Amino acid sequence: MTTSTRTEFVTHEAFSLISIRGHIDEHFVIPTMALDNPTLPIIIDTAHVDRLNSFGLRTWLLWISELSKAERPLFFVRCAPPIVTQANYVANFLGSGQVLSFYAPYWCSVCGGSALELIELRAPTPTPTPTPAPTPAPAPDHRPRPATRLCSACALPLELAEVEEEYFGLIERQATASIPEEFWTLLDAILQRLPEAP
Ligand SMILES: [Zn+2]
Repeated sequence: MTTSTRTEFVTHEAFSLISIRGHIDEHFVIPTMALDNPTLPIIIDTAHVDRLNSFGLRTWLLWISELSKAERPLFFVRCAPPIVTQANYVANFLGSGQVLSFYAPYWCSVCGGSALELIELRAPTPTPTPTPAPTPAPAPDHRPRPATRLCSACALPLELAEVEEEYFGLIERQATASIPEEFWTLLDAILQRLPEAP
């Protein structure tokens, strides 16, 4: 039997990180975290998931539903495009989880080149307020916009390879994460050691 999914765990004192790679299909089995601390937040990293089919979807939904019942905080980082697409179309795909970052696919209409861009959904760090502000600042717009990127081959601007309203629909339905800065620092340090999406 071939194994099309690889699952790796990083257990840290602040959270348990589960990295899933490859296809989420009929060979995908629910990751078990026998040795991890049952009170820690769970972070699911799917940067290297390249496909998800209906068999894998069934197992994924069971898994996420179980995780959501456990009342551990659940976060998703570096969601690959197949994960974002499913999250937009399948109810409860993310369960009680919140997306902290995801990849948006871009392409070049001239040479067909493509690139993924990581979009972070963290709330800005609150700045100390030395004096009362004379006028309230306008509420910041946390909605990520497709960034202007240039094709590495032709130096022309890349275009989003998905319908913007659909692809970014995920983002419109969730609040921006309000998470302590120390948590981000630890998470960043660990994610930086993992390879980026291809
Ligand atoms: Zn190009």
